[in-house]
Amino acid sequence: MVEHERRQDFETRQIHAGARIDSDVHSRVTPIYQTAGYLFESFDDGEDLFAGRSARRAYSRNDNPTNAVAGRRLADLEGGVDGIVVASGQAAIAATLFALAQAGDHILVTQSLYEGTREMFRGTLRRQGLDVEYVPDAATDQEWMSRFRATTKAVYTETLPNPLNQVTDIARLARLAHAGGVPLVVDNTVPTPYLQRPIEHGADIVIHSTSKWLAGHGAVLGGAVVDGGTFDWTANAARFPQLTEAPRAGAPSFTERFGPAAFGAYLRSVIVLEYGPTVPPTSTFLLLTGIETLSLRMERHVANAGRVAEWLEPRSEVARVHYPGLASSPFHDLAQRYLPLGAGSIVSIELAGGRPAARRFIDALRLISPMTHIGDVRTLAIHLGSTIHAKLTERERLDAGITPGLIRLSIGLESARDIVDDLERALAAAGD
Ligand SMILES: *Cc1c(COP(=O)(O)O)cnc(C)c1O
Repeated sequence: MVEHERRQDFETRQIHAGARIDSDVHSRVTPIYQTAGYLFESFDDGEDLFAGRSARRAYSRNDNPTNAVAGRRLADLEGGVDGIVVASGQAAIAATLFALAQAGDHILVTQSLYEGTREMFRGTLRRQGLDVEYVPDAATDQEWMSRFRATTKAVYTETLPNPLNQVTDIARLARLAHAGGVPLVVDNTVPTPYLQRPIEHGADIVIHSTSKWLAGHGAVLGGAVVDGGTFDWTANAARFPQLTEAPRAGAPSFTERFGPAAFGAYLRSVIVLEYGPTVPPTSTFLLLTGIETLSLRMERHVANAGRVAEWLEPRSEVARVHYPGLASSPFHDLAQRYLPLGAGSIVSIELAGGRPAARRFIDALRLISPMTHIGDVRTLAIHLGSTIHAKLTERERLDAGITPGLIRLSIGLESARDIVDDLERALAAAGD
């Protein structure tokens, strides 16, 4: 490597970053290492592996070469120091919180979050003793700061919350989290690192559901956690003893062994090892293939989403379009600051005719697929109140902005004209 070499562009790194060529076979494409474990070379080698004295691999639950390439690639694209891929986005969120917090601890969370995450927060994580406190979107800095406690372990948010796209001011939340002595954890699923890199704005840990745009074809589930290497664990040592204290007498702490990369090392070698949220390398092969074309797909996703949003906005059947790429959106300024290459490809619409119109709309679709999922090459649609948010009370739905006529569209890569034709038919059926 030439010193001061220009860092390669995103388009190049999405294809090459993290790949290693096998010294025997020289496979150009990263192979699927479909194996549970790895041969010891000797008795001593086995002992060294288990003692952490060897860089070789022992078992695929937390260490598989195919998965390792995807982890390194995502860390590179997000600008972090380490990446770990797991079985799903939910697994990535759970593993991250298990690594940061324990029973009796507290986390501060922004209000607008993917409903699967909210379900985990109010369900089993609460039952396991984690106190999850939602901070209203309108909270001032002072109101934020008054909520930090000695037991607070993280601030958790999403860059572009699914489904209403209320662009988050990541730099502000990072400043508040750091003033409170905790890392900022950000779910960056909807923009992907092509449209936004939260670590550049001060976030410390980035989470993905790779099932969405990163894999991109609606075929596999996966998740990822990227450690930015930015949070100073030792400056907040009493809050994070799992990283800063010796795991057993005489052993070095994670911060002593791994420095700024302590969190990722702990997540991989303790949390993923103990809980086993392992993603199959066959799924990761499809994820890697997807990531190779991420920039191209995202460019088309946002171009199509912009055209569809603009076409929908003046329609009389549509009371409101939630898309921060529109100049009329209250989040347009934040979108220009945080999402200069495009505001993602979720376009949520409120049908003027409420739930009856939504039923007619969904049942009239022919090209667009009615289903739960986002970030597919295909355009998808879902009526949220009767599906993902059905377990909530009417009051809770309205508080979360889930109005009776709300439809979430995930705009795919078909021709924009064909997507609009299908929407035209569905809106005609929905009526005013
Ligand atoms: C889908 C999604 C998840 C959960 O991911 P899975 O891979 O489905 O488990 C988490 N966060 C966001 C923002 C999502 O859209």
